[in-house]
Order: sequence, then structure tokens, then C-alpha cells
Amino acid sequence: VRAAVLHAYNSDFLIQDVETPVPGPGEVRVKIAAAGVCHSDLHVLRGKMERRGFPPPPWILGHENAGWVEAVGAGVTGFEVGEPVAVFGGWGCGRCRFCAGGQEQLCDTLSWSGLGRRWGGYAEALLVPQAEYLVPLGDLDPVVAAPLTDAALSAYRAVKKAQSRLLPGSTIVLIGAGGLGQYAIQIARALSPTRVVVVDSSPSKRLSALALGADEAVDPDDITVDDVRGLCGGEGAAAALDFVGVGTTMQLASSCVARGGLVVVVGRADRSAPFSFVDQAREAVLTTSSWGTRNELVEVLALAQRGLISGAVERYPLNEINSVFARLVDGRVDGRAVLIP
Ligand SMILES: [Zn+2]
Ligand SMILES: [Zn+2]
Repeated sequence: VRAAVLHAYNSDFLIQDVETPVPGPGEVRVKIAAAGVCHSDLHVLRGKMERRGFPPPPWILGHENAGWVEAVGAGVTGFEVGEPVAVFGGWGCGRCRFCAGGQEQLCDTLSWSGLGRRWGGYAEALLVPQAEYLVPLGDLDPVVAAPLTDAALSAYRAVKKAQSRLLPGSTIVLIGAGGLGQYAIQIARALSPTRVVVVDSSPSKRLSALALGADEAVDPDDITVDDVRGLCGGEGAAAALDFVGVGTTMQLASSCVARGGLVVVVGRADRSAPFSFVDQAREAVLTTSSWGTRNELVEVLALAQRGLISGAVERYPLNEINSVFARLVDGRVDGRAVLIP
């Protein structure tokens, strides 16, 4: 099968033929319809994940995958060849207490799809180690569904952490209206009556945010923390979700929440910001949110099936992968770019 292989850090992907994976017992080969391009891939290809134990290249990246069941190994039941599926990518060891508790995406064996030891979906086919990682898509288009497995799933888990705070009259602040943020706007509206304030420096992303149902979309260069608190009724936000994760955005998030408010850092930039008893609202809570569980993916797909979330998907052929990554680096992808093999 054709695949985009990364042979060294900070280099171009090479389109080449690799051996077609043959599913062993319990495994499934999925014909890839589309694989979403994620900012996490940039951290991987710049070598930033090595200190977290990632093995060195070569890799086939791609952890946002959907397609059709193409071949099943011995013992796999319940799936028909040709059936459209989303691939849950947070593959774990299956034995540690996180995996046993259904939180496989928190497993630290680094065996996620396309992130770490296992190959991913920037290829014509993907070997999935367990049929349980596949979720039937029903009527959903696999190309549109691919980003639901990470961009929407990560946004969903972050919004769900805040859900109990999103009461009538509350406001949530979403920083960054790219792939994840655009899903978060729709998810916050689907799960709660909260007001949605979006912060993004890109005029086109602010327009998209408003079109997706944000109540306000503001430019961080034009406003102060007090302005943001003003947009949240003066008291501050019930929750602030930071999809960027650099120092300035984390500082804005932790400064705009109300007493008892929740700050969730989702963006993976390796920066930090001060967080103290005296500078934050009393009993503000700071946490991170990482990907989502398989069951949360089922919930995300249910939202999509009901038409409550949809994503702006930009389609590119797999052999344009290097120019797509260049667009991502430059911030020239408005929704989610997907690669089609
Ligand atoms: Zn990702
Ligand atoms: Zn595990």
C-alpha cells in the first residue's frame, strides 16, 4: 500500500510503497477514507515527543482515521467487510489501571495509532490491533468523520469536564477557533445553555466561530482580561478552555474564570503560565485534558449523527502531505485538513 513515511525529524514525508498489513487474530485492516492532520503531528516531527519516550523515526503518522473494514483476522466478529468505521486511536496496553478503567488514551505505553510505536493512517490501509477500537459510522461520511476521532473527541472531553458548571446564565470562554475550537463551540451549545465567547486572532476563524453559533468572537490583540470578564457578565467565565496552550493564552484562560471556575488546557504547546492563590479567582481549578475515551467517541459520533456537530473539512490528496503540513505551520488551515489516500 502507498503511505507517507517520515524518515527523519524535521524532514519531508516520502510517499512510498510499504507492505500491506495482514491482520492477525483479533486484528482488523481498515481501508483509509481520510486521515485528519493534527497539530500533535508537528510536535512529533519536530522531535519534541522524544523526551516523552517516543521511538525515533521512521513513522507513518496519522491518528484521526476513518474508512472501511477491508480484512478481518481470526476471531473477529460483528464487522462486515466494507462497513464504514471510525478508528478510536488511543490504543493502550489493555492491562494497566487506566486501560482497565476505560481510559486507554491515558496509557503510557505509547502505542497509540500513528503516535509512538504503532503506525497510523497517512496510508491506504491501517492495521487496527483490536476490533473494539472500531466504531460503526452508520450514515456518516467517513471523510467527514475522520476528524471526529481526535479534533472533535478532544474538544468533547474538555467541554464535558466543564459541563456541570455550564448553567443558564453562565459563559464559557474558548481560546482558539481552529479545528478543536470549532467543534468545542458546537459541543458547548449542544450540551448546555451557556453563552460562548471565542478568542482568536484570525479574522476568518472569528467569522467561522460566529457562524457556528458563538455569541461573541474577539481578537486577543484588541482586548484585555477585564474586557473578557465583561463579556462574561463581569463575574468571569464558568470555564475557559485553551486550545492553544502558549503562555499568553494560558494566562488569559486562568485570569478570566470566575470563582470556582475551571481552566482546561488542551493545546499541547510546551509553555507555562503563573497560577497562584492571590492572582486567580478563589478556588479556580486548573487541569489539562487529553484526547478522549472510546465511549466518548461513541457519544461524539452520536452528536454528529443527529446533526449537532459538523466540521469544516479541507480535503487534500495524500501525496500533497508536505504542502498541507506547511499550511498547518503557517496557520492557513481554517477547519481541519484531511488527507485522502
Ligand atoms: Zn491529534
Ligand atoms: Zn495501559
